[in-house]
Amino acid sequence: MAAGKDEARALLPKSAAYIGGAWLTDTTGELHAHVNPADGQPLGEWQLPGGADVDAAVHAARAAQVVWWAKSPAARRDALTDAATAIREQRAELGALVSLEMGMPVRASVAGVNLAAEWFSHYAGYADKIDGLVPPVAQPASVLDYARYVPYGVVAAIIPWNGPVLAAALKAAPALAAGNGVALKPSELAPFACLRLGELLVEAGLPPGLVNVVPGGADVGQRLCGHDDVGLITFTGGGRAGRAVAEAAAARHVPTVLELGGKSAAIVFPDADVPKVAKLGAALGVAQNSGQGCFLPTRMLVHRNVYDDVVDGVVAATGRFRLGDPFEPTVSMGPVVDETSCTRILQVIERAVEQRHGRLVAGGHKAAGELSGGFFVEPTVFADVDPDSALAQEEIFGPVLTISPFDTEEQAVELANGTRYGLAGYVWTGDLRRAHRVAEALDAGYVSVNGMALLPPGAPFGGWRASGHGVEGGRAGLAEFLRVKNVHVQL
Ligand code: NAD
Repeated sequence: MAAGKDEARALLPKSAAYIGGAWLTDTTGELHAHVNPADGQPLGEWQLPGGADVDAAVHAARAAQVVWWAKSPAARRDALTDAATAIREQRAELGALVSLEMGMPVRASVAGVNLAAEWFSHYAGYADKIDGLVPPVAQPASVLDYARYVPYGVVAAIIPWNGPVLAAALKAAPALAAGNGVALKPSELAPFACLRLGELLVEAGLPPGLVNVVPGGADVGQRLCGHDDVGLITFTGGGRAGRAVAEAAAARHVPTVLELGGKSAAIVFPDADVPKVAKLGAALGVAQNSGQGCFLPTRMLVHRNVYDDVVDGVVAATGRFRLGDPFEPTVSMGPVVDETSCTRILQVIERAVEQRHGRLVAGGHKAAGELSGGFFVEPTVFADVDPDSALAQEEIFGPVLTISPFDTEEQAVELANGTRYGLAGYVWTGDLRRAHRVAEALDAGYVSVNGMALLPPGAPFGGWRASGHGVEGGRAGLAEFLRVKNVHVQL
């Protein structure tokens, strides 16, 4: 059971910085007034961390990392397992905070927190299995080389607001398993669940200061990126901020993992289960987190033979979504994150209509009536979308799906690969050979056939091209947080 709205309000922290295992009472950054996206009403004001607070977070992480790395691998494994248990036990509370701060329906928020716990469990299992290697040498009797995989020290983890606890786990769990300390920077649009997560990890037994939480905007992010003690930056967010992070990292020659935006295509072949695809296409491309997901299939490419059926099915499905209070258990779509996002998405829709990028077949407006106080955008679908238009090319990050027809498999692949992004691709077909052929041809880091996997911790996930570089998840995701040291011994 998830906690209710009032319980969630009572859980809001007094401070907006959790550093060194304590709440900071005299933060020095900007004043942030948080608005509940579901009703447009203020939730309160918080003084965000300032530059000196960010520095303190990095120092705390550095000091705690030394303690953490001095522990046995088995002790780190057990501590991370305890952290996973604590997150799982507090899923209702953390999920409710997520729903309150950014508007995700509470069932999905709690599921996201559960998945975050899974990431901690998964990476706990790696903590005592990080071994090294012995490179071949010419004279093994007189020379020994050995290489060890070691942590960077302090990792700066900068995350977006669209699923904050899970986004934090995607970075913190492997970073900690690799032996690092973490300075976690959530967006000021979703700071509260992550702040509570930081406290919870200390309650669960992680050394105070190992994970510090400093929410804020670009200023906080830049301060972290520029700090001399930060050895690696892992960033999830949009392309513009990603570039600023990469530039700051390049100035200090610090490596980055960048998980950026996408405009992922779902290709629907005529041999797919059309009614199911239409229903799922609408659920994943419009309703899921109100379209605010990086790798959601927001661009449908449909074979002309089944095109009208799919468009009709998608429109019918969007008509069945229930918009409303994220704490209502039957609600399938919450608001978008804030007024700025709401206005921006509505402008994108308006421009697309004016410039005839496609035919608006569902939604297109801000929700009216009892939802008018919140930032609700109607589930919106454009059919016959010009693949070269901004509507088809640019990430919208809102509940707006585009649908375009194709005639041949080659054309479908060309259209799917025809944006600057390379995050995900989806293939719907009953033909196994075609599924593999198209999966191979898609220029994306993640491909899903006849469904969608929601970030299982064992699978590497990451974008190509303008969607970033590096991965989260699995062995490869752990490797991002380790560097190699070779020791040469002349015997
Ligand atoms: P954003 O780029 O505005 O912000 C992301 C984070 O970076 C926030 O914490 C923000 O405060 C910080 N930031 C902003 N400017 C910065 C700067 N100059 N220096 C350092 N930090 C800075 O993105 P958002 O609006 O929070 O999230 C939406 C974006 O995130 C979308 O583009 C979405 O596709 C992307 N995203 C990608 C993935 C993925 O795994 N590829 C997952 C979720 C979201």
